[in-house]
Amino acid sequence: MRYVSTRGAAPPLGFSDVLLGGLAPDGGLYLPETWPPLPGSLGAAAGASTDPPTYQAVATEVMAPFVTPDIGREELAQLVTAAYATFDAPEVTPLTDLGEDLWLLELFHGPTLAFKDVALQLVGHLFERELSRRGDHITIVGATSGDTGSAAIEACRDREGIDIVILHPLGRTSEVQRRQMTTVTSANVHNVAIEGTFDDCQDLVKALFANDAFRTERNLSAVNSINWARVMAQIVYYVVAARRCRPDGSPVSFSVPTGNFGNVFAGWAAARMGVPVSQLVIGSNRNDVLPRWLATGRIRTGEVHATLSPSMDIAISSNHERLLFELSGRDGARVAELMAELRGEGEVTVPDEVMGPVRETWAAASFDDDATLAEIRRVYESSGQLVDPHTAVGLAAARACRTDPDVPMVALATAHPAKFPDAVAEATGLRPPLPERLADLFDRPEHYVVLPADETALVAHIDDVVAR
Ligand SMILES: *Cc1c(COP(=O)(O)O)cnc(C)c1O
Repeated sequence: MRYVSTRGAAPPLGFSDVLLGGLAPDGGLYLPETWPPLPGSLGAAAGASTDPPTYQAVATEVMAPFVTPDIGREELAQLVTAAYATFDAPEVTPLTDLGEDLWLLELFHGPTLAFKDVALQLVGHLFERELSRRGDHITIVGATSGDTGSAAIEACRDREGIDIVILHPLGRTSEVQRRQMTTVTSANVHNVAIEGTFDDCQDLVKALFANDAFRTERNLSAVNSINWARVMAQIVYYVVAARRCRPDGSPVSFSVPTGNFGNVFAGWAAARMGVPVSQLVIGSNRNDVLPRWLATGRIRTGEVHATLSPSMDIAISSNHERLLFELSGRDGARVAELMAELRGEGEVTVPDEVMGPVRETWAAASFDDDATLAEIRRVYESSGQLVDPHTAVGLAAARACRTDPDVPMVALATAHPAKFPDAVAEATGLRPPLPERLADLFDRPEHYVVLPADETALVAHIDDVVAR
């Protein structure tokens, strides 16, 4: 399998180079040259005859064509097994019936209670394997306002060839979020609390990457949401869920609370590979760039509003470019033009001939914080289920956009309710307890240093704690 850039002006690469590479040199995102069809045993024709395969078995089947020839099937199966051993549900992503053929796909059974673990737990092992093969070492640096840092830390802890440095703004993350990062005891994890805001943290990370000498010497890297391997790992649960709720291979719809578009794009990829998908529904909070795009064709950068679903507070969805590339007939030059216009003008309109077919499959709706709280309450009253604010946005969108009650609707639950206890308590009066694996989180010792928002101090600290 080779990978091409969405902007069409970078040489194709194999999986391992794409894994470690991040953005393509032309500024685009990598996509596989072709979409491998699902094997008959997993696709629409599977039939209900046999016991459903395990999550791990499906994962290996689905991903093997994407990693070939770099990683063999046996080795992939071992990496998959190791990655999902950290999940506290045997099915990895359990499916819960909410009634009326509405299903909740629980993606929050990993170590940090959010769906990013599904991809990142595997990516940590993929990185480790490739770095050891190359005899290489990387230092991953990232800034977090609380949410993504812990998933990256859990993915990289104890992995050979990797050190990870995560900056968070001192005193400005929730205590659960901070403790999920700072109670990790692994020697290759380095938490830094910066005396400043999240923006200060991000500026420091940018400064490190702009510091050529330091970047090269330290082999700096990031684990960002445009990494192809993350999308690839997410395709798996669409295959699993469709098969579980319709073993006869009839169509299924999905609703996805969306931020950077990585998750819902994986659903689209699953459809391309043969999963019988009827509707793909995008749930947005007040940051509604995607519902507006679907309604008008126009993509417009605006200011970001803080909401109860912070992981979806974005101005532009970075993975949207992957869908635009596919929709425009894989015309990289065209995508490069669209992206240049968006950057230059702050907006761009996708032409009607491209938008027309999009609306046959895609739907989208946006909900403000009041509507999100109302949905959390409604779901609790109707099913007894507590859901987090991100999941609630997806559920509300599922109800608003569903066109055919005979087609099951699978709503993706992207975070455990205990990760956002304040919103859940405000909506329902109930405070969801942390699951058992994190029950003693508040008793564990924390490990972090406090530094001023100063590049020199940060470089000195990294030189101090990360072995050369
Ligand atoms: C990251 C995240 C999302 C958004 O996913 P994208 O792939 O960026 O669209 C939704 N919910 C939660 C809880 C997340 O952490």
